[in-house]
Amino acid sequence: MPRVLDGAAIAAAIKLEVATDVKRLAAEGIRPGLAAVLVGHVPASEIYVRSKVQACADLGIFSDLITPPETVTTEDMLDLVAGLNDRDDIDGILIQLPLPAQVDTKALLDAVSPLKDVDGFHPVNAGRLQAGRPALAPCTPAGVIQILERSGIPIAGQYAVVVGRSDIVGKPVAMLLLNQNATVTICHSKTRDLAAITRQADILVAAIGRPGFIMPEMVKPGATLIDVGINRVTTRGEFDRYFAGNAKREAAFAKRGSTIVGDIHPKAFELAGAYTPVPGGVGPLTIAMLMANTVRAARMRRNLPRRGH
Ligand code: NAP
Repeated sequence: MPRVLDGAAIAAAIKLEVATDVKRLAAEGIRPGLAAVLVGHVPASEIYVRSKVQACADLGIFSDLITPPETVTTEDMLDLVAGLNDRDDIDGILIQLPLPAQVDTKALLDAVSPLKDVDGFHPVNAGRLQAGRPALAPCTPAGVIQILERSGIPIAGQYAVVVGRSDIVGKPVAMLLLNQNATVTICHSKTRDLAAITRQADILVAAIGRPGFIMPEMVKPGATLIDVGINRVTTRGEFDRYFAGNAKREAAFAKRGSTIVGDIHPKAFELAGAYTPVPGGVGPLTIAMLMANTVRAARMRRNLPRRGH
């Protein structure tokens, strides 16, 4: 039987460690703070930001939710970020994406101080990660490494294949695996004979954004499968393609009218040595690592030694 890597439990353990560190900092008169910038009314973004603000409250981290209107300009946003860069009560700045079309997202992300860049999207942090220097790493990729490490899955010397090369997931996860001495191949939509490459992977990371894309014949039996994908299934036909005969999913689908599938077909998990389920695998780590990065940024900015993560 493949081993299920319980991301929710790992995220809970990390949050507990972060809360302990927050208490330690409180004893020195320091309260880490996160500014969350949520523009307009994108329902999914509102849900994500609400969870992030709630996580701050749970762990004793100060949070400031800033909600500019949908019509905000790039200049207004740059002014806002400059103000947050200067605020002493703010250690981390989170700009929830996507932003409205009139806002220059890249200019804005580049304007965030690299020291407060808790999403790890600033080119300085991407460069530091690439150079193998300490950096605030993007949260989801950092979470993938935590899952592997805390589950006792070796990385050094393993052949890791990452499908997807986004700046947010694919590239940084590949870099983190390389920094941990895996042999890494990055694949994308122009890769030839993808299955021949993925079939060799000891660790296969799927960050594609296509439901059930990695099929059983693309997987080496016994491999560790890390599924970053989050795709919503809303039609009966799609549901049957991934979950036919799965009574638990059936009940959830009947109740909500939708369910979530990753980028790896559930049938492929049956061949794995270990895998992250969707939901409950990589997903919960993203917020846990955002919290960890905020506390880390609070320490970095004050030249205090790093603790954990
Ligand atoms: P993205 O920016 O759309 O990147 C997708 C990547 O997949 C691209 O590099 C693309 O290649 C590649 N790709 C697309 N079709 C392919 C194909 N047929 N064969 C091989 N590669 C293909 O997506 P993302 O932001 O990295 O997110 C990936 C997935 O992770 C999404 O499902 C997203 O919802 C999920 N996600 C989850 C979390 C979380 O768990 N908290 C966080 C972030 C993202 P090209 O570069 O050639 O186009």
